Amino acid sequence: MPTSEQYDAIIIGTGEAGKLMAWHLGSHGSRVIAIEKDALGGACPNVACLPSKNIVHSAKVASFFQRGAEFGMIHSEWHVDMAAVRAHKRKMVEAEAEVHLNNFKKSGAEFAMGFGKFTGPKTVQVDLNAGGTRTLTADKIFIDTGSRATVDPIPGLIEAHPLTHIGALELDTVPEHLLVIGGGYVGLELAQAIRRFGSRVTIVERNATLTHREDPDVSEAVQQLFQDEGIDVVTNATISSVEGLSGASVRLHLSNGAILAGSHILVASGRTPNTQNMGLDLVGVQTTPSGHIRVNDRLETTAPGIWAMGDCAGSPHFTHISLDDFRTVRDNLAGANRSIAGRQVPSCAFTDPELAHVGLSETEAKQQGIAYRLTKIPMLAVLRTHTLSETRGFIKALVAPDDRILGFTAFGTGVGELLPAVQLAMTKKLPYTAIRDLIISHPTLAEGLVSLFSAVPPLPK
Ligand SMILES: Cc1cc2nc3c(=O)[nH]c(=O)nc-3n(C[C@H](O)[C@H](O)[C@H](O)COP(=O)(O)OP(=O)(O)OC[C@H]3O[C@@H](n4cnc5c(N)ncnc54)[C@H](O)[C@@H]3O)c2cc1C
Repeated sequence: MPTSEQYDAIIIGTGEAGKLMAWHLGSHGSRVIAIEKDALGGACPNVACLPSKNIVHSAKVASFFQRGAEFGMIHSEWHVDMAAVRAHKRKMVEAEAEVHLNNFKKSGAEFAMGFGKFTGPKTVQVDLNAGGTRTLTADKIFIDTGSRATVDPIPGLIEAHPLTHIGALELDTVPEHLLVIGGGYVGLELAQAIRRFGSRVTIVERNATLTHREDPDVSEAVQQLFQDEGIDVVTNATISSVEGLSGASVRLHLSNGAILAGSHILVASGRTPNTQNMGLDLVGVQTTPSGHIRVNDRLETTAPGIWAMGDCAGSPHFTHISLDDFRTVRDNLAGANRSIAGRQVPSCAFTDPELAHVGLSETEAKQQGIAYRLTKIPMLAVLRTHTLSETRGFIKALVAPDDRILGFTAFGTGVGELLPAVQLAMTKKLPYTAIRDLIISHPTLAEGLVSLFSAVPPLPK
């Protein structure tokens, strides 16, 4: 029988919620240990949000090179050095890793590198990456094991060794022709970036449009952007089989008989929660049919003393939501009664231009029979976009009869930065006039909010 080490709290997975919980409890004097099988700090700083935005920004620089003459920059020759693009990204990721190590040190929270799994009540075994095991016990256990790219069970797909986002962010040469399976935000960001580095790119989407959950005007605008960037988009596509090896030569066979040939495949068609082989059933932690950990609106699992947070708990898959999961559990441990039900879920896809959204869409308002007034302006009406030569897109908002803002969607340069002002008004139930009447510095993108809310149609008499 291995001897067990007693802690106040164990955290399995050091994603956003997990590491914040470790640092919080550690700095408040608890004896706490976090277990991580891959990279300390979880997906966001290592293989997801931050490195992808770093690569997206390098691709933006490439697009400026392509557009140089427009700004009076004449360059005779330039080329993309993917190995240097990757080195630039790795440098940022390494700096983030350093920050994480320091935070563990400062907070007094311990960590162990290995795979964590339940072996009995209040007991977690770590299969250490370095070999051997440790057995840990604690009264409080937090699971934040995140999710991974789904590889659909399409004949030949696994055998083709497709790239996931992790491999795509580590490319050191530009693919000749990348086939992207999935037109969600991960697929779109990477498709556009890799296109801008010089690859041919084809996106294969099973739904009728890209960003199919957005309003039709948004999907159309996104589709137009991708067309203008020279990216082929195949919609309503069902892949029946895959041939070849990604990195060499691949062929996707579609159910309508069409064949798409390329050099690489990137799968970006969904996420699978990391909840397997963790002994959850041994301790009464139930999962849902989709494999997420079953939680209530306080993120308590079906086993007392065990919480789940972030992607693995089925929370919307964003780092800022995992952060809010942490805050919810932290506050409830301190005696609050916080719930995640009905919380605001803002999102921003870092395509160029960005697609930002919060609250109700027009489609949802219509489906739910919610009355609204629509205000919509082109980005061309925001003078800052003229100075940047980035006039594509529009912003729109839904305003209730009582003047509250119900929803906001923006497709335009830098529009992710417009979200918090609108979110604040929505959270505090302020009328739209609170934003309309602000004095906003000129010429900023945020000025667009004044124009947008000045264009709210009056209530019908
Ligand atoms: C390419 C890409 C770009 C993205 N961009 C954005 C963005 O711009 N903004 C945004 O908000 N979100 C973005 N996301 C989503 C975001 O990365 C995730 O929602 C977020 O990382 C989820 O955090 P989490 O707390 O659930 O855990 P994760 O960050 O997924 O971390 C979980 C950790 O647990 C570890 N783990 C799993 N099982 C075990 C085990 N049994 N034992 C020990 N360790 C284990 C994993 O190795 C991992 O490190 C992006 C995702 C991808 C793929």
